Amino acid sequence: MSVRLRYAPSPTGDPHVGNIRTALWAWLHARRHGGDFIVRLEDTDQSRAVDGSLERILASLRWLGVDWDEGPDIGGPHAPYVQSQRLHRYHAAVEELVGGGAAYRCFCTPEELSALRKQQQAEKRPTGYEGTCRALPSAEVTSRIAGGEASVVRFRMPDDGVTAFTDALRGEISVDNSTQEDFVILKSDGFPTYHLAHVVDDHAMEITHITRGEEWIPSAPRHVRLFEALDYDVPELVHTPVILGPDGGKLSKRHGAKSVLEYAEDGYIAAALLNFLINIGWSLDGETEVVPLEKLLEVFDIHDLGVSPAAFDTTKLEWMNGVYLREMPERLLSELFAVRLERDLPGDVARPLDRAFVEELTPLVRERMKLLSELAPMVDFFFATDIATPDSGALLGKRYRKRPDVARGLLAAAADGIEGIEGWAVELIESRLRELAAELEEKPGDLFMLCRLAVTGKPVTPPLFETMEIVGPERCVERLRAAASSLDSVATEA
Ligand code: GLU
Repeated sequence: MSVRLRYAPSPTGDPHVGNIRTALWAWLHARRHGGDFIVRLEDTDQSRAVDGSLERILASLRWLGVDWDEGPDIGGPHAPYVQSQRLHRYHAAVEELVGGGAAYRCFCTPEELSALRKQQQAEKRPTGYEGTCRALPSAEVTSRIAGGEASVVRFRMPDDGVTAFTDALRGEISVDNSTQEDFVILKSDGFPTYHLAHVVDDHAMEITHITRGEEWIPSAPRHVRLFEALDYDVPELVHTPVILGPDGGKLSKRHGAKSVLEYAEDGYIAAALLNFLINIGWSLDGETEVVPLEKLLEVFDIHDLGVSPAAFDTTKLEWMNGVYLREMPERLLSELFAVRLERDLPGDVARPLDRAFVEELTPLVRERMKLLSELAPMVDFFFATDIATPDSGALLGKRYRKRPDVARGLLAAAADGIEGIEGWAVELIESRLRELAAELEEKPGDLFMLCRLAVTGKPVTPPLFETMEIVGPERCVERLRAAASSLDSVATEA
């Protein structure tokens, strides 16, 4: 039988990295084994639903390059893939369970349940539902429902014995039934709980492996009992370990508990984030950090996951992003750059950008960045018709603070020097500026920094001579002269 795995997010906002990592693992396992990957929206808790979540969940997957065979947007043989549109199926299952005696109506109000809880706590007894409505006569149930009384449906857990199940990563887990309460499967609003809904759907959708976070282990015995009561086979259960923060604590927003789309926004490359996430808690050979997707698709198997929590290392993610930026084919990278620049450059830069020009810039900056968000601030001066000369303090720096006249002279000399260059090209610009530094007995680096600040307006830029070549002779001369004259008054004062 071919494998079928699913990602079953609830629409409670943007998926964060832990949730997406589990989805990525499920997707890879499905793809590696030639099976199907299904997306299903679990929206039965209407009070927690956040508008626009589904779109953002799907956008996150698409951005990462994940594809699915069935889902809310594309349908499929088991449509619909949105739980709130499948209520009649859960109601049918509830009817079957109630009819067979495996589940029953409970009329206890939230107030009664909370009073019970308080009493249990005061008496230092285990808390939980104690079966108040377990044995109501069916005539009473019918008349209370007819009378409009609110009720839920609870699943009857056995009183003694154990419930055992196998977790694919941890082996057999078993719990004493005496610790299990009769849990709610249908709420008073007519919506099923997660417990019932996913059991019905995973069966109907022929899911072979349930992959989900390990926080679900404590409720797995309930699910196993439900599968059995409905006469369904229990799919393989794979509970994935949590991701910890770098300090070993809970993953905080600052340390990576961000949504996938926030990473996109911050300038990470999808392939880098994907590889990074897959490798938290899984490893090819214990040492390889960057595993090409093709390799993952050949070797990844969900049964090889570790069970110990692994830490999220933001420094490593940044490093990895840099590796992907440097290793990406230049054409692809320049397309990525163009998209990012279209978005990030100031509004007064004419769109669409000249793709050939972006291609020309790509090799100059790719080695100098870790994040795509660093791109626009690094190259915006190439696109600006007018750049502001830095103020005299920034222009002079330490080196020329006491000698503004020298700096002014150097800038003017640089303008004159390059103005006459025939066949404007990197090597010629460089040798002319070096000659000038030697003639005027200044350190070449000091002269270059003045030129960089004058031509680009910034202290950190792509390589200077390549930059000047692209900016072109007229604009370079113009900017050097503007910088020189910006020092007029300071130089006279000195
Ligand atoms: N809807 C559940 C959640 O978002 C999914 C758990 C599961 O994958 O079964 O946590």
